[in-house]
Amino acid sequence: MMIKTRFAPSPTGWLHIGGVRTALYSWLYAKKNNGKFFLRIDDTDTTRSTEEYKISIISALNQLGLNHDDEITYQSKRFEHYIDKIQYLLDNDLAYYDEVEVNEKTKDTDLSIQYNNQLNKEGYVIRFRNQKESSIKINDSVHGEITFDPKVFFDVVILRSNGVPTYNLTSVVDDIDMGITHLIRGDDHLSNLPVQVNLFRAFNAVVPAFSHLPMIHGTDGKRLSKRHGAVDINYFLNEGYRVDAILNYLAKTGWSHGDQEIFSIDELIELFSLDRITKSAAAFDIEKLNWLNQHYIKNDSIENIAEQILPFLSSLELPNVPKNDKYLEDILLLGIEREYSMKNIANSITYFYENEIEYDMSIIEKFDKEQTIKILRDIIAKLFIVDFNDKPSISACVKATCKDLSLKFKDVGPLIRFSTTGRLNAPSIDDLCFVLGKKRVVERISRFLELYQ
Ligand code: GLU
Repeated sequence: MMIKTRFAPSPTGWLHIGGVRTALYSWLYAKKNNGKFFLRIDDTDTTRSTEEYKISIISALNQLGLNHDDEITYQSKRFEHYIDKIQYLLDNDLAYYDEVEVNEKTKDTDLSIQYNNQLNKEGYVIRFRNQKESSIKINDSVHGEITFDPKVFFDVVILRSNGVPTYNLTSVVDDIDMGITHLIRGDDHLSNLPVQVNLFRAFNAVVPAFSHLPMIHGTDGKRLSKRHGAVDINYFLNEGYRVDAILNYLAKTGWSHGDQEIFSIDELIELFSLDRITKSAAAFDIEKLNWLNQHYIKNDSIENIAEQILPFLSSLELPNVPKNDKYLEDILLLGIEREYSMKNIANSITYFYENEIEYDMSIIEKFDKEQTIKILRDIIAKLFIVDFNDKPSISACVKATCKDLSLKFKDVGPLIRFSTTGRLNAPSIDDLCFVLGKKRVVERISRFLELYQ
């Protein structure tokens, strides 16, 4: 039997990080078993679904490499087929017309016809005649054996009075047509399970195996939402979180393989298993994601990092347009370990591409003005005559200034850093000067002195 899984987002919002994990687990399980992973867009809710959300979800999945097999299924294009299936249920006395119930909940709903078809009748819905005789036992790979009592089997609406079929019906019809063997999704759908299992049976279809994933929570134990900060995947991609780090992180959020923390995609495909998913809710820990992202950055080649960082640098619109060249590689060699995301790295190296540094003089208020001027005049004279290609001679200049003025490195170093970068936390002086080059260093210190005096 070929394993078939699917991810079925509703395009009524941006793709949530929890949704990415659901997609990832479904994708991994299909890949591991040489099966197929399908993408279905649940866009039956024509009032809340938007084109923008749809495009953004599909593009995020592409960027993450969670590629789907075959064509994408759009539920909005399958309405006629659902109507046929409802007809089948009506013909077999498994569904019936019922008057629209107007209550507090439905009072404000727009009941006007949205999808006119041969079945919809104004003022009527169609309900599934859910069996109420026997309980249902299912074996969920995460939650174990679950028994549903017939007391919870309601005759759910399958066709709204506006002519639009409902999620439970469309989802089951599609899962049958797509031949889904393993249905992996969030456990917020557990409550839909009894009606869906009965629908599978009503259509004489094989009921798939289920894995209902515990929700991802914030560190406060509450369900992860906007209150915890950004939760949509585009935010993380735009911030420069790497695909390998995101996927590694999400795989580990709710699944484990011993104590191993770092997994390549190939390792995940090899090791992933549905029965090692943790039953309790996993917490979204941004610190850990940052740590992983930094790990992947540190362990990648400078050429790759240069390529990845270029879009982030370019978006900063710096006066000297960053290029993928030796200068950029030299810059990256100085300090990429300090930052955890591509965007942060880009922001931390802007001064290499400025013409004129903007100085916030309050940062160096605590330094004595007269002494500062003396130090910088001295160092500039010394640096002017050394060969910048020789790092030790740059260090030797700084040492000589310290000696000549009877000062310590801590009195001198920060001033050179500040005058050449506008910041106090910059790389070591010899590295910094070496990469900036003599011309920039001398120009920047001189300009600083002009502005400062
Ligand atoms: N469109 C549903 C959702 O976004 C899919 C649920 C399912 O996987 O069955 O929650």
